[in-house]
Amino acid sequence: MNRTITVLGATGSIGASTLDLIRRNPAQWQVDTLTAHSSAKELAKLAREFAVELAVVGDENALPALKEALEGSGIEVAGGPQALCDAARRPVDMTVAAIVGCAGLAPTMAAVERGGTIALANKEALVSAGEVMTGAVAKHGATILPTDSEHNAIFQCLAGGKIEDVARITLTASGGPFRTSGAAAINAATPKQAVAHPNWSMGAKISVDSATMMNKGLEYIEAHHLFPVGLDRLRIVVHPQSVIHSMVEYRDRSTLAQLGPSDMRVPIASCLAYPNRMETPLEPLDLASIGELTFEAPNEELFPATRIAREAIEAGGAAPAILNAANEVAVEAFLAGQIGFSRITAVAQATLERYDAPSPSNLEDVLAIDSEARIRSAEALESAPLV
Ligand code: NDP
Ligand code: MG
Repeated sequence: MNRTITVLGATGSIGASTLDLIRRNPAQWQVDTLTAHSSAKELAKLAREFAVELAVVGDENALPALKEALEGSGIEVAGGPQALCDAARRPVDMTVAAIVGCAGLAPTMAAVERGGTIALANKEALVSAGEVMTGAVAKHGATILPTDSEHNAIFQCLAGGKIEDVARITLTASGGPFRTSGAAAINAATPKQAVAHPNWSMGAKISVDSATMMNKGLEYIEAHHLFPVGLDRLRIVVHPQSVIHSMVEYRDRSTLAQLGPSDMRVPIASCLAYPNRMETPLEPLDLASIGELTFEAPNEELFPATRIAREAIEAGGAAPAILNAANEVAVEAFLAGQIGFSRITAVAQATLERYDAPSPSNLEDVLAIDSEARIRSAEALESAPLV
């Protein structure tokens, strides 16, 4: 069976893992479209390898380089944010949403509005849009397959169960590279230290999010939308080995967990093959050599991000979109060496305190809140001490 697939964010970490699986199963897939932001050369290379129909760069300035690199290939090219949405609207069997940040929201919504099946890695899109996205999924009969490892684990643990029988969902967190560091070391953390995740190899932005624990905060909001059991039934537990990817406890006190290697090809494979299974090149899980699985409560004194995220989703409305935008701006400033590590969550908190907006009721509202929150958080960056 040959299925068509589009990968939004093909040149990133999730894009690479997805294409690795497709490369190993060439007879199963026909790649329709691949997109990137500005990595024109890398995109062109992949486009030629997978003989795609269309290659798109979100950054229009990168279009001439893409055109040149694909000259004579017969592959159609396009550039700009609108072209990403047009690409996502093309009919395919599956869309992998793997753009980083709220930049992925409009293309993901385009795939949703087409009623497509979307493997969703781009958590920031769902965090920002919330009910605007879940409402559109229901309205257009789209299917979201959760690709984020925790949400994919929960999705698997819910198979055959009923959401009304769920007593508790536990999201596991590795705790990131600074789990055992003290406040002084955390304050002094450099971008290089922050992106060096102990268990997972990921893009720079999510690696910093894992270090601040904002990744788990965003995932808490993501879980609330994907699995509507109520906020009081969602918990976070730190599990440094990243072997259990999340758990579902039912009301009879039976808990189901999903285990696996910390490699995103496992949850991606579960989405690509859903509802069937496919092989991955990974080693079997060797529990005897792992030895022990440990758990601890999150330390919200040192890592306030999960508390800030919980407050944002409790507040609802525009707050999660504001939080996400402020975090994106702050992470970028941190990676550029403009602010210290601890300022990332401080900027997110300050922006939430300074900016309020009515609840978004459509995509345009969400994008307007996102833009305004970016301006306000840039102000928070400038006015707050850059420690
Ligand atoms: P990367 O930074 O590795 O890749 C991001 C991809 O998005 C690249 O293809 C990049 O293109 C493209 N991109 C970046 N900015 C824009 C933009 N403004 N417009 C269009 N395209 C853009 O990210 P990851 O693969 O790590 O993460 C992707 C998403 O998946 C994120 O939302 C992340 O939270 C989520 N996720 C990632 C996991 C992981 O293990 N990496 C695990 C779970 C979730 P270019 O190369 O040209 O910059
Ligand atoms: Mg995750």
